[in-house]
Amino acid sequence: MKKSSYLIKPASSLCNMNCQYCFYSDVSHLRKIYSKGIMSKDTVNILIEKALQDADEITFAFQGGEPTVAGLDYFQYFVEKVKQYQKKHIIHYVIQTNGYCLDDEWISFFKEHDFLVGISLDGNQMIHDKMRKKGNHPTFDIISDHIKKIQDHHIQYNILTVITSQMIQHVNDIYEYYKKEGFQYIQFIPCLPELDYSTDGYSLTPQLFYEFYHQLFSLWYEDLKKGQYISISFFEDLLMIFQGQYPRTCGMLGQCHIQLIIEGDGSIYPCDFYALDEYCLGNIHHQTIEELRQSIQGKNFLQQQKRYSKLCHQCQFKNICHGQCKRMNIVYFDDSYCGYQAFLQETYQLFYQIGQGKIG
Ligand code: SF4
Ligand code: SF4
Repeated sequence: MKKSSYLIKPASSLCNMNCQYCFYSDVSHLRKIYSKGIMSKDTVNILIEKALQDADEITFAFQGGEPTVAGLDYFQYFVEKVKQYQKKHIIHYVIQTNGYCLDDEWISFFKEHDFLVGISLDGNQMIHDKMRKKGNHPTFDIISDHIKKIQDHHIQYNILTVITSQMIQHVNDIYEYYKKEGFQYIQFIPCLPELDYSTDGYSLTPQLFYEFYHQLFSLWYEDLKKGQYISISFFEDLLMIFQGQYPRTCGMLGQCHIQLIIEGDGSIYPCDFYALDEYCLGNIHHQTIEELRQSIQGKNFLQQQKRYSKLCHQCQFKNICHGQCKRMNIVYFDDSYCGYQAFLQETYQLFYQIGQGKIG
């Protein structure tokens, strides 16, 4: 059974909030056209038609900018078209949203169509309200309220948290708060400096990368020993690696993959971090999915050189790391220090044991 997934940007880089560190806003500002607009019905039709021809099991993941800016009508149209065209396909829906506009209609829609909802929350109120604003207004109370609705309706969800340098002093508070709220699935995403820079006021340094995960691991491991398991995507990936399985997150083994990012106008890019003019693979209106996957631009993207640390050559983890994701590794290492190496040195045996079912 052939599987495929699409990361769709129905509202391009448009958003209804203005978070301090938004990476997609940075990427989009480096293109000739910042916003490719709201995806038209024509583009939806052709995308669904080609996706269903290409595979039997398909994940449609919506992201932004902020995907809900395209409006509920867009999503209703999308799922109706899939129903109309699909045969024996297995379809999964995922959305990553800032959660700002999730009223009862959105919640019912997600419930009805079994969406997995990734909702952005940056820790506790103090941190979140500093980072994630609408205009000058804090958003924590609104987003928390919407998360409660999602929980009450038993919709599958996970929490997406951007790790900023401002968080490092508050790891314990954030972890305890998430436990209190009953969050079971958490994805932490390191804040990156803008593409043209190596650091800024929010992004991590390799030292802060280590410090964050060092603290988080201690808290997580103590709970694990008590039989309380919380799914943290970075730790799950490491557990999979130390059990000899493929991790879920792109780049954890240091290799790029063509991810099929679909912008509002149907143009396609290989990776969310590289939705730039020079990496455009083509357009869903003009090429087949296979042509897009096999394009010269895609091959060039996969073969592009990346930076390594001077430490990589002698590193005991080089065979499972390979210098990590070429975009994210800016916060993993420099030439004199690797935060990922430091973290693995103190935890790899524990991850190995946990993978073998030996805890404590
Ligand atoms: S840059 Fe990173 S996320 Fe993008 S394809 Fe490469 S490894 Fe994956
Ligand atoms: S852990 Fe760090 S030093 Fe080791 S191979 Fe990976 S990036 Fe290089």
